[in-house]
Amino acid sequence: MRGLGFNLYLCSLNFCTRMDHSALYVIPFGSLSIGVHEFDWLIEKVFFAECETSEIEDACIKVHLTAVKHVYFMEVEFSMTGWAEVQCDRCLDPLKVDIETEVRMIVGFGNFSGKEEDDDDTDVVILSHDAHEMDMTHHLYEYIHLALPVRRVHQDDAAGKSACNEEMIKQLERYLVKERSGDN
Ligand SMILES: [Zn+2]
Repeated sequence: MRGLGFNLYLCSLNFCTRMDHSALYVIPFGSLSIGVHEFDWLIEKVFFAECETSEIEDACIKVHLTAVKHVYFMEVEFSMTGWAEVQCDRCLDPLKVDIETEVRMIVGFGNFSGKEEDDDDTDVVILSHDAHEMDMTHHLYEYIHLALPVRRVHQDDAAGKSACNEEMIKQLERYLVKERSGDN
């Protein structure tokens, strides 16, 4: 189990190396006493702006994080609530989607054996012996992207009419017809 969680993050598709919010989304566990500590963060547009691979154009997401520090590990639980703006799959206009997710992690310090946790839904991250803080930026980024719906399309209104940008769809259709006739 050792090291598993951290390796998974490094391999993930959306990992962005250019983000630097390190001062903002940090759990300074080295200076925290044993026990419960709470953090409230806000994630907005700028969080995603530096990362070209992000599908999110804008956002307002509240993060409430609880860290329970033990001697050899820390339990981290956080909820994220708000919205993110992505592109509509159909008309390509901006589309706001709700973000509502809860995450549980176990953060082991150098001597952590992994025995405390065998729940498959919980990510385990092992930090090195000399670490004294945990930057949550990439974890928050990953979990927000995981919380995006698979299908991102403007909903129909009460009358059953699509809320997509009609003009854009007409243009896209014309373009597709052209493409197809160009192929033949
Ligand atoms: Zn649309």
